[in-house]
Amino acid sequence: MAALSLAVGLRLAAALRGAHGLCGRAVRAAGLLGRGFGSAYAAVSTESLPPTFGFLLDIDGVLVRGHRVIPAALEAFHRLTNAQGQLRVPVVFVTNAGNILQHRKAQELSALLGCKVEPDQVILSHSPMKLFSQYHDKRMLVSGQGPVVENARALGFRNVVTMEEVRTAFPVLDMVDLERRPTATPLLRSDFPAIEGVLLLGEPVRWETSLQLIVDVLLSNGNPGTGLATAPYPHLPVLASNMDLLWMAEAKMPRFGHGTFLLCLEAIYRKMTGKELRYEGLMGKPSLLTYQYAEELIRQQAERRGWTAPIRKLYAVGDNPMSDVYGANLFHQYLQMAERSVRAEQQGAGGLQKQPPSATQSCTSILVCTGVYRPGEPGSGEAPFHGHRDFGCSPGLLQAAHVVNDVHEAMRLAFHEEGWGW
Ligand SMILES: [Mg+2]
Repeated sequence: MAALSLAVGLRLAAALRGAHGLCGRAVRAAGLLGRGFGSAYAAVSTESLPPTFGFLLDIDGVLVRGHRVIPAALEAFHRLTNAQGQLRVPVVFVTNAGNILQHRKAQELSALLGCKVEPDQVILSHSPMKLFSQYHDKRMLVSGQGPVVENARALGFRNVVTMEEVRTAFPVLDMVDLERRPTATPLLRSDFPAIEGVLLLGEPVRWETSLQLIVDVLLSNGNPGTGLATAPYPHLPVLASNMDLLWMAEAKMPRFGHGTFLLCLEAIYRKMTGKELRYEGLMGKPSLLTYQYAEELIRQQAERRGWTAPIRKLYAVGDNPMSDVYGANLFHQYLQMAERSVRAEQQGAGGLQKQPPSATQSCTSILVCTGVYRPGEPGSGEAPFHGHRDFGCSPGLLQAAHVVNDVHEAMRLAFHEEGWGW
């Protein structure tokens, strides 16, 4: 699956790239910086020049905890905006949340941060599903909670079926909750159009219902009213977003994320069929696709602001080593590989037309201590791997370039690195 995602990602990268300059210097290798890196940065401002760097900001555990804004985020945004209230550099908010509409998330952030956030600055975990247009006209079963149908439609899916519609059409399928079992044997339906794929947008409520019905749809090739002697394999296409096992809200301990739901679904499918559940697309951090999507939104934002210089460096700030740090480092690795491959092709291409590289040269991971990650916890080598099955346990990718207290320190660090006043 990872290879499949990468292939989609590479196609996307090729499709999205504009006329960008060649990559140059390698990013400075940075070890763990530790906490408290000095208070007085040189304030050599280069703000008469357009920015060549931007931020990918995680939301939960970085800017907010539950419904409360983290004070450091207010300070950071106060400094990040100019006298006109505009951002001084391009910023996108990259969250693995998905049970909300994009414009609602933008409104929420605007209210919390006291700074206007546009919907196209917000990347939800499922936003890259817009790119899977081959499924947009298929009849897709959608799983999640909140405005799932509106979200699916906003992503381009024109023919969606909800879990409740399947449950109503086939009332004898959902049998765990005794209170919800049908009291009489209903007539079997034969007029329910076949389902052609499954969208897993985020964690649903009533997991037992969703797990049962999704497995029924996969085992019956989209006709859950029928019983098939042999389950088809490969099964119907499954697109999933947000593979976070855990996330941080107000509670002292992390909460179950959609990754926990996926883990259950994968385990059930494997146990029942002896085969692996396969994803046609798996998105949200740490997927490469999400970072490529974010990079493109950063580029468009800079263009809208009239900043003519290419954005060379991205700083990705997050609280979750498995999604934020792993994803940023994976994207950085990809950028470096893309640069090397283009260089090699240019040297020995024999006149073939090659894609120019992205303007972005590096993506620096910055881990904050206001969310899931707690300093002093066992190192990644000893801790259990919380990543998704399709993403290998690579200790190097879990190592942040910088570890700081909070998002304010993260931004101050980045501005300092870029020689900008903070
Ligand atoms: Mg987070």
